[in-house]
Amino acid sequence: MFDARRSHALNHHPPADGPLLYWMSREQRVDDNWGLYHAQQLALQRKVPLVVAFTLADGFLGATLRQYGFMLRGLEQLQQRLAELAIPFVLLRGEPSVELLRFVAQAGIGSVVCDFDPLRIKRHWFDRAAATASIPFIEVDGHNIVPCRIASPKREFGAYTLRPKLKRLLAEFLTEIPPVVRHPFPWQQTVQPFCAEALLADLPLDRSVAELADSVPGQAAGAEALTDFLDGGLQRYATSANDPLAEAQSGLSPWLHFGQLAPQRVALQVARYGGLAAEPFLEQLIVRRELSDNFCLHCPDYDRLDCAPDWARSTLEQHRHDPRSYCYRLEQFEQAVTHDPLWNAAQRQLVATGRIHGYLRMYWAKKILEWTASPEEAFASAVYLNDRYALDGRDPNGYTGIAWSLAGVHDRAWGRRPVFGTIRFMSAEGCKRKFDVAGYVQRWSGRD
Ligand SMILES: Cc1cc2nc3c(=O)[nH]c(=O)nc-3n(C[C@H](O)[C@H](O)[C@H](O)COP(=O)(O)OP(=O)(O)OC[C@H]3O[C@@H](n4cnc5c(N)ncnc54)[C@H](O)[C@@H]3O)c2cc1C
Repeated sequence: MFDARRSHALNHHPPADGPLLYWMSREQRVDDNWGLYHAQQLALQRKVPLVVAFTLADGFLGATLRQYGFMLRGLEQLQQRLAELAIPFVLLRGEPSVELLRFVAQAGIGSVVCDFDPLRIKRHWFDRAAATASIPFIEVDGHNIVPCRIASPKREFGAYTLRPKLKRLLAEFLTEIPPVVRHPFPWQQTVQPFCAEALLADLPLDRSVAELADSVPGQAAGAEALTDFLDGGLQRYATSANDPLAEAQSGLSPWLHFGQLAPQRVALQVARYGGLAAEPFLEQLIVRRELSDNFCLHCPDYDRLDCAPDWARSTLEQHRHDPRSYCYRLEQFEQAVTHDPLWNAAQRQLVATGRIHGYLRMYWAKKILEWTASPEEAFASAVYLNDRYALDGRDPNGYTGIAWSLAGVHDRAWGRRPVFGTIRFMSAEGCKRKFDVAGYVQRWSGRD
């Protein structure tokens, strides 16, 4: 059953005649997709065709061939699955709100359902299109289990303030997601399917960051990764998730980021599976992930130092001119040529595989703060490197993780240190107490 609290009207126009359009953006899947499901239910009630459109912006937030490849190959599979359900898929290129509105006019669309996304650029596309159109635009939150706007109307201080709010509502929202069915009202226009390979060759892309052969995109691969995790990693999650060599994390973030896997499906399966590890895993998947959306929705400066809470801003200011034992430029970080073998290994893992283990991501970001001339520059460098190389980059989780590491967001003051002030510090010695640092460095070593 669709809970009306998942939807949010972006304008207040009455529906017009004509097909229902689902403007797919963040939730790039057919199954377990509340937005697509709701769009179809509206189309069935009105006895009109249902069309799915995706607007492809060139050079989206600095994405490279690595991220475009994963996304477009996933979308290519999705258009086939939609065709089996008699739902056409249209890929539009150009400025998203402009192209979407052009399509709405040309196809005589009667109503639009779009995804919820807290990032500034997406809010700008959706709000601009909704404000210009004369038909309804309805946003559906299919990313958060408890819809972000319902969980909390304000920026939360931390996991400890959001957690009880989510827990109160979880049982109401963590329900089965009904399937989309074969659509009985055909669209009269014909659409040429797109070919991901041809499109990738044609797009004006930064090709210097290669696609990853062992990261298979798409809904089927995401579902398979979830099954593998349930059968293998989950039981070790409680004890070994913080060990970068144990491979006990799920590795699901690329599919979750591109919406090829529904967080709600993951939560349902993990909860069903139960066991000791379910709780710590669901804490990350639900509380931490939904806290990131809350942060980005309510703090538009999520990707720069201005997002820091007052205590963190003032401590970083007090320590702005502290001497740095090492001071690197962005290119030195990018080439993994710092003095620290552990940091270099993490950066190499990021470049080679599009991932860094979650625990090391914190160390990686905090050291950028410690070894950069200013906290503003450190924030910008961490965002640049994460978004450029990580397969799951450009995500609220990434901006929030960086803000937590460098700017005290969702954290509290700790013991005072040079450069950090009272921002929580991490050291290579501390890492040695947690895991086999030498083994990790060896695994990702070039020269150190
Ligand atoms: C500096 C820094 C940068 C980060 N950049 C990103 C990023 O670009 N994209 C991204 O998705 N995550 C990012 N994270 C959060 C976290 O590290 C990753 O989500 C996690 O490592 C992904 O691996 P996994 O899927 O195996 O995680 P698992 O531990 O298996 O967790 C399952 C899922 O829970 C969610 N999750 C786990 N940890 C966190 C967390 N700390 N905050 C929010 N959600 C979490 C993710 O959706 C993740 O896929 C970053 C964290 C830090 C400290």
